[in-house]
Amino acid sequence: MHIDVAIIGSGPAGLCAAITLAKKQRSVVVLDEQRKAGGKLIGQLHEDPKEGWWIGRQIAEQMQREAEQAGVTFLLQREVWAIEPGWTIKTSGHQDITASYVILATGAQEKPTPVPGWTLPGTMAIGAAQVLNNYERVRPGKRIAIMGVDPLAFTVAQELKLAGAEVVGIFLPPEGLFATEKAKPQSTIGYLSTMAHLAPNPWLRLAGSMAKHQLIQKMGSRFYPKAGMKVFGVPLRLRQALIAIEGANQVEAIQTVKLHRDGKIIKGSEESILVDAVCISGGLLPLVELASSCKTVNIDELGGYVPLHSEEMETSKEKLYVCGNITGIEGAKIAMEQGKLAAMSIEHKMTGSEQAMCDVKMQIDEVERVRKHAAITFMPNLLDGRKKMKQLWDKFQQESRDTYEVR
Ligand SMILES: Cc1cc2nc3c(=O)[nH]c(=O)nc-3n(C[C@H](O)[C@H](O)[C@H](O)COP(=O)(O)OP(=O)(O)OC[C@H]3O[C@@H](n4cnc5c(N)ncnc54)[C@H](O)[C@@H]3O)c2cc1C
Repeated sequence: MHIDVAIIGSGPAGLCAAITLAKKQRSVVVLDEQRKAGGKLIGQLHEDPKEGWWIGRQIAEQMQREAEQAGVTFLLQREVWAIEPGWTIKTSGHQDITASYVILATGAQEKPTPVPGWTLPGTMAIGAAQVLNNYERVRPGKRIAIMGVDPLAFTVAQELKLAGAEVVGIFLPPEGLFATEKAKPQSTIGYLSTMAHLAPNPWLRLAGSMAKHQLIQKMGSRFYPKAGMKVFGVPLRLRQALIAIEGANQVEAIQTVKLHRDGKIIKGSEESILVDAVCISGGLLPLVELASSCKTVNIDELGGYVPLHSEEMETSKEKLYVCGNITGIEGAKIAMEQGKLAAMSIEHKMTGSEQAMCDVKMQIDEVERVRKHAAITFMPNLLDGRKKMKQLWDKFQQESRDTYEVR
């Protein structure tokens, strides 16, 4: 089978890219290892402070319908093992697919944070809890503890509460190889300041933005109530770490300790809290395994290793494009706009038309606009990361030109 564009990943980025290209009469195949299209979108259910309810499952279904009507072919339950320049797509199906262009829209994966007892049934990654709760409509437990303080923990805590669960608290992880700064109350308060816009009331928003200052972070961590403060009705326990999960055959309780503001344990502060489920939120990593044929760069502000790419979403390898969380961890709305941008850039490459170039320029501005108004910011210094990427891309372009001229 030969097609114009193969898109790997049917999350919001891949779906938007597919719709945009199919509407330009390009032949498009979307491959995804999951049985449903939509990627992480299908588990999302939250209230956007400005735009009301965000029901990911419905949005994904609508986009899949729109894509199919425009002529997109979906190959679901089809894992892509490798892509070879040219492009040949090696999949778990019997037949290879060849395509003139490839878009990698493989999204992100969760980082694990191990804790003693985490293999007990009832312990799960926060993303699994999100899909179970919002998509499968199965509440992960009645009394739930969340370990790890980040935007996903807040989002899912709210979603679990909506489903009728009691969330006993969001706790810090134990300090160790997998959590250093994230295990300290003081640095976590600093990190929280980057999420101030998510706070449910103006007082917390103000406190959050003030916490950008180091002195306030120190004071905040000293005076932060040991019993925690409620965010969306869920106790945020910044001075308490979850150090073990206990139970005979399944989760029955968590062991916690109270912390000094530098993260040191307060002796004799151990407490056992009864729960029947634990969700672990350790952060997200761009999924770059398929990007081995192009250059990748390590930019912490974007989430780790990501393919080197231009503002137009082009990689260092000809006719290979990227969009969505593989380029850096951001919310679904930005992934969608990046998907459209990657598609428009390919259209421009294919036609060379001025109109297509205009579309690309306008879409670059649109990505920026949506980014500026994002309700969820996963990476606190994301804009610095995007700047670094631009500099690295310019350097790469310059070096490629120099090499070409020497030859
Ligand atoms: C657990 C989790 C929860 C999140 N919750 C939220 C939230 O509530 N709100 C929000 O705005 N953002 C959330 N995000 C961020 C989220 O990733 C983006 O919102 C958005 O889904 C990113 O879109 P994407 O298209 O880049 O990737 P994804 O939505 O992750 O889609 C990528 C797709 O690629 C497929 N894929 C990957 N590798 C292969 C392969 N080798 N072969 C075939 N298919 C492959 C996957 O199966 C997946 O369907 C969450 C992220 C994670 C990881």
